[in-house]
Formats: sequence, structure tokens, C-alpha cells
Amino acid sequence: MQAIEAIKLTRRFGSILAVNKVSLSVAEGEIFGFLGANGAGKSTTIRMLTGLLEPSEGDAIVGGYSIVKSPNKVKEHIGYMSQKFSLYEDLTIEENIKFFGGVYGLKTSELNARKESILKLVDIKYPQNIVTKILPVGIKQRLALGISLLHRPKIVFLDEPTSGTDPLSRRNFWEIIQSIANEGISTFVTTHYLEEAEYCNNIALIDKGKIIAIGNPQKLKKTIFSERPIFEIDVASIENVLLLLNQEKELGEFAIFGTKLHLYSQQKNANESTIVDYLLQKYRIQVQRIRKIQPTLEDVFIHYIESNNNGSN
Ligand code: ATP
Repeated sequence: MQAIEAIKLTRRFGSILAVNKVSLSVAEGEIFGFLGANGAGKSTTIRMLTGLLEPSEGDAIVGGYSIVKSPNKVKEHIGYMSQKFSLYEDLTIEENIKFFGGVYGLKTSELNARKESILKLVDIKYPQNIVTKILPVGIKQRLALGISLLHRPKIVFLDEPTSGTDPLSRRNFWEIIQSIANEGISTFVTTHYLEEAEYCNNIALIDKGKIIAIGNPQKLKKTIFSERPIFEIDVASIENVLLLLNQEKELGEFAIFGTKLHLYSQQKNANESTIVDYLLQKYRIQVQRIRKIQPTLEDVFIHYIESNNNGSN
């Protein structure tokens, strides 16, 4: 059985179609990344999957329960860390754990046993009697993550858990997500940091409420690499480059990356010498060096979002 199986999940707010027939599945122990720009529909999807918001249409089975028929069962069986993770800042680490343990209905003996292993899992070495508000943001996030796991859920939902922290804290946080996955817990995580998607087993890209790409990040990159090769080009002078950027449609799209040009080719079989000849003849642009490059996830997303905007996806 899959940990999460969403089938054509749809949500409208009046005339706004916030989430449009989202289908996805997440396996046990999988880290699933949900990516998209602000307003794309990430939070609305997460709120439906966690039983907090009723879908307009469609359904999802989360931890074996339907979000439509048994939203309360879903809530009991999952962990959830919202964007504004809700620690009580005036309480100590230990008091926060006790408070939320009580909310989850854990007995004192259970909670005491659980507390140490959770603090170890999220790598918090601070004394437990420290007031939460003086902790660095990255540590607070880890504590909030730990608390969302107190009642041993098999699935945890994290809504932009790393926003507002430095790269090192983000990397630490992802190492912890990895250890959670190693314990067989499934993680559904939203982020807008593209580099974080690399840590996920699978990702979905949502744009205007619709999933426009889904799969393993490396496979998505490979597909783009073979379907729409990217070339890095050094030119002898920047003369006519502006013209090229504004006008060129036949070869594909050009963009400036630092001192180099990138060509997102339209043609699967585009080759270097044809591009070099074409640029010289049409724009009088002399190419010094050209090579095919590996796409980044950013390239993948740009490709799918543009295809979605052009209505071809
Ligand atoms: P963010 O990263 O900014 O949280 P998001 O991808 O999570 O963005 P959502 O918050 O899910 O996006 O919003 C999707 C769309 O639905 C947006 O157009 C938003 O304005 C709209 N929306 C969300 N909640 C409501 C609501 N309660 N009432 C009306 N419109 C809403």
C-alpha cells in the first residue's frame, strides 16, 4: 500500500481553481518534494492531504484513510509541520514536548521514553530546560519537526520547513529528513529551494494548480537532456547578442548566464557546428567555444513551466 495516493484532488475558492486534478502517490519511506512558485497551490494541496481542508472534488488515501470520509483519522495518523511551526516560545524545550505529547494523547511514561529518542533523531543537544525563544531558527525548526513525530506517525507533512534559514541549517535539516526516511517514515515536503529537490526520491512541480512534471529528479533532468539539449556558448564579442536574445526563435531560446550564453534548443538533434554556422550567418556572431551541458533542475522547471504556459503540456 502507498503511504499517500491522491486521485484528481481539486479545490476551488469561489471562481479560483487553486488545485486542479492533482494525482500523485508516495511510497513508504519515500521523500516526496512538492515544488512550485508562490500561489501555485502547494499549501492548499497539503491542507487537503492532512484532512484540514475538504476537497471540492477527488479524494486521497493517506495512511490508509480517505481524506473525504475520515479526515480525523488522517489527522491522528500523520505528523504535520506548518509554515508557521507552532512552538510555544515561552516554554522550554521539555515543556513544549510535554505539551504537544499531551495534545497527541501520549502517556507520561511513553512521552519520557519518546523524548530522548526524538531529540536524538533531530539532533538537539541543548539542555531541555532552555526557553525555546532563545534558540536559533534552525534548531527551532528541528524541534518542531521532532514534535510532529512524537506520536510515531508513518507519514509526515512539512510545509516549507526550511524557509528563512541559512544553507548550513537547511543541509542539516535535510540530513534529518533522510534519517526519518531511513526509519520508514514517508515525508511530503514543500519547498521553493530548487537545490533541495535533489534530496528527494521523487518530486512534483505544480503550476497554477496543476502538476506539470512528476518523477525522480535525475530522470527528469535526463529527459530534458535528450529532448531539449542545452548548449553553453562563449562568443567573441557581445555585439548582436541582444538582437539574438530578442529575436531568435528558430534554434530555441537564448539566455545569458554570467559571461556565457545558454541555448535551450528546440531540436532534439541540434548539433554544435550547425549552431555555430547559423549564428555567424544570421547574426554575425562568432562562437569561440560551444558545448552541450547537463541541465540543472532549474532548467527542468523553466522548461515545464514554459511548456505549460504555451499550452502544450
Ligand atoms: P505559497 O508558497 O505562497 O504558500 P502556495 O503554492 O502554497 O503558495 P496556495 O496558498 O495553495 O499556494 O494558493 C493557491 C491559490 O489559491 C492562490 O491563488 C491563492 O490566492 C488561492 N487561495 C488559497 N487559499 C485561499 C482561500 N482561503 N480563499 C481564497 N483563495 C485562496
